[in-house]
Amino acid sequence: MAESGCVFCSIVAGDVPCVKVYEDMSVLAFLDIGPVSEGHTLVIPKTHFETLDACPAELLSKMAACAGRIARALVAAVGAKGYNVLCNNGKAAGQLVGHVHFHVIPRREGDGVFARWPARKYEPGRAEEITDKIRENL
Ligand code: 5GP
Ligand code: ZN
Repeated sequence: MAESGCVFCSIVAGDVPCVKVYEDMSVLAFLDIGPVSEGHTLVIPKTHFETLDACPAELLSKMAACAGRIARALVAAVGAKGYNVLCNNGKAAGQLVGHVHFHVIPRREGDGVFARWPARKYEPGRAEEITDKIRENL
């Protein structure tokens, strides 16, 4: 189902233009309008789901398979040395478009993309505490 006011649903419907990379029955891949590196591609399901956890597993697996194919093609096409696959979920995580999508971002050594990864350390016992809570909610 399309969601009114969703720009990615409008792209799927053909009402908003995109530079299309790949399309099948279930998924669509197109260039991000604001690329963090050349070839930065978005992979979306054609049906509207807001976040990854709301998206049925079968559809997610199609998106993941598509992301893998796109990644391989991108690396070859733009001469990248690697790639990131990123999925922002929720405003707090930086999701601006509420239609689940994978970013596939070609990378080169020292390109400075995601230069800062604020890794921290757990206090003793905290990792186990968190893990218990996660398991309770699975
Ligand atoms: P988010 O922050 O939600 O993970 O990323 C949304 C992405 O969608 C952004 O990188 C943004 O540049 C891209 N985007 C937003 N609107 C459009 C659009 O109309 N067309 C295309 N091709 N990309 C868009
Ligand atoms: Zn949508």
